[in-house]
Amino acid sequence: MRGNQLSKKPEIRIKVKDAIELITEMFKTKECSDYEAKTIAERLCGANLKGHDSHGIVRVPRYFEWMEREWVFANRKAELVIDAGALACLDAKQGFGQVAGEYAVDEGIKRAKTHGVSVVGLRNSGHLGRIGDWAERAADAGFISFHFVNVRGSLLVAPFGGTDRRGSTSPLAIGIPSKDKEHIILDMATSTVAEGKVMVAQKGGKPLPAGALVDSSGNLSTNPEVMYGKIGEDEVPDSENGTGAITAFGLHKGSGINFMMEMLGGALTGSGVSAGIDDKEKRKFANGMLSIYISVEKMVDLDYFTKEVQSYASFVRASPPSDKNGKVLIPGDKEIITNSDRMANGLPVAPIVWENIKQTAEKLNIHNVDRFQSAII
Ligand code: NAD
Repeated sequence: MRGNQLSKKPEIRIKVKDAIELITEMFKTKECSDYEAKTIAERLCGANLKGHDSHGIVRVPRYFEWMEREWVFANRKAELVIDAGALACLDAKQGFGQVAGEYAVDEGIKRAKTHGVSVVGLRNSGHLGRIGDWAERAADAGFISFHFVNVRGSLLVAPFGGTDRRGSTSPLAIGIPSKDKEHIILDMATSTVAEGKVMVAQKGGKPLPAGALVDSSGNLSTNPEVMYGKIGEDEVPDSENGTGAITAFGLHKGSGINFMMEMLGGALTGSGVSAGIDDKEKRKFANGMLSIYISVEKMVDLDYFTKEVQSYASFVRASPPSDKNGKVLIPGDKEIITNSDRMANGLPVAPIVWENIKQTAEKLNIHNVDRFQSAII
């Protein structure tokens, strides 16, 4: 109900270039290198461009809070801790995921070029943002990739049949490269919705789908208060203040996939699962990511593969839509459509989100923040 009411608020459109400029300037005040600051800004805006507002600029105030809590540090270079041919592991040492993710993917591509396949772990990473970014980076280089991710220290998701938080939103991404760069990218949280979507709903954005949340008594809900408690408009939502949980997607099967993300992204990479039975205190936030890279041409004739992929994609898209005005999509289509609209028309943002970013910028002593008022289209 609350989400529905808030979503009637007007949205504003921010020019991508202006958002990148302001956010880059903000991270530079915290000693991020020019490259790191710009990469964080570009990848957050990139998530908005692809329609994943939950992993976009709405995160900016929270990233600064995380730096204060020492959950993430500026300018930490990921270190190669396992170097065993097709197998490697990097330790991001709580550095920004936007940069550590690039190192990890590039390591995987390099090794898959030599061996045909590679498996790369990334442990102790700051937030890796939109995981589809990493599948896209591999696809740009012509590689298929799988990314199994968990979120250490983040308990948000109830297991199938449970009523409290026992797991993270643990995303999964799979990328299939395409010659025209319109790659096929499945990129999804293994919870019914990503936590950021609850945050977006709380800030007046798109309401949550039915059954997205469960309160502590086991009732399904769409009210973000279940996750954050009652908060004021200018407060940063903190999931530690809520008593409910996000549901795992896909009933018992989705709950099982969510569990396996902890095994692969958390236990196997050495990053750690979201929480353990003997924990005395909350674990420090980190993304763990296990990625597999496959060279298509070392497996099968490239022309055959391309034709089969295109043929099947067209076959699926041609299914008569159940909604007469609808369109059948394959993984990644929605992001491609949204990207072209937003590149042309700017990023739609709830006014409170932009206001929170500007307030954070002012706290960082960035003066004359209103020059970015021109960003509002
Ligand atoms: P979503 O539900 O919007 O989309 C999931 C997938 O479904 C996408 O591949 C999309 O292309 C596809 N899709 C969407 N609409 C479709 C349609 N009508 N027909 C066919 N396919 C369709 O995504 P989500 O699960 O809410 O995840 C949002 C983002 O959150 C992702 O980018 C994910 O990587 C990110 N995430 C990150 C973390 C982290 O810790 N870094 C944690 C959780 C989620």
